[in-house]
Amino acid sequence: MSSVKERLERIISKLPEGVQLVAVSKFHPVEEITEAYEAGQRLFGENRAQELIAKAPLLPEDIRWHFIGHLQKNKVRAIMPYVSVIESIDNVKLLQLVEKEAARIDLTVDVLLQLHVAREETKSGFSIDEVLEAGEAGLLTEGYPHVRVCGVMAMASLTDDMEQVAREFDLVRRTYITLKDGPFDESEHFNHLSMGMSDDWQVAVKYGATLVRLGTTIFGPRQY
Ligand SMILES: *Cc1c(COP(=O)(O)O)cnc(C)c1O
Repeated sequence: MSSVKERLERIISKLPEGVQLVAVSKFHPVEEITEAYEAGQRLFGENRAQELIAKAPLLPEDIRWHFIGHLQKNKVRAIMPYVSVIESIDNVKLLQLVEKEAARIDLTVDVLLQLHVAREETKSGFSIDEVLEAGEAGLLTEGYPHVRVCGVMAMASLTDDMEQVAREFDLVRRTYITLKDGPFDESEHFNHLSMGMSDDWQVAVKYGATLVRLGTTIFGPRQY
């Protein structure tokens, strides 16, 4: 079996320029993250607050952590010292709370708006209508001096039907452009499209992903 380092290098060599890899280390121990770190990886993703808080202090400080899971309101304060990007802002209230907590510790935090396009109801995120309405109403752009909204994030349906996945990524891309040309047209930061996981990242890259979030292809199956 190949090493974490070899798998990382193989993936990175296939990514077009301008596409960054978020190594999704959820359910993988600090030792495996260290292996990836030593191979040069600095961007990692975690989806549970408790796990991030447990692992981050044990690892080098120049790791940039992306929070990619559903974020409960009572966990925002705890993750704030560790995260560089919260990719999973899925409602306006959460955005307002992140602003409040960032202001409290006098920090600016980068976030992405998570869009729900998959068929599974269990996945969270703004619906396309919700995000466009919130954008038009100024609810995504006004009153956030401590938050930089840097783009959108989404997950496609869990399916082998790559045409379905392509349609979903295309919808995300079009929504991203509508927001970028609309409410965020004055923003220097709204430049990121985070989509693509181990089974569908090639499709995501075709539709303009700037961040891909890969776990299994780098670290192997998760041990739950
Ligand atoms: C777990 C997870 C990933 C990575 O999934 P893999 O299929 O292991 O690559 C990406 N994005 C999110 C939001 C996740 O929760």
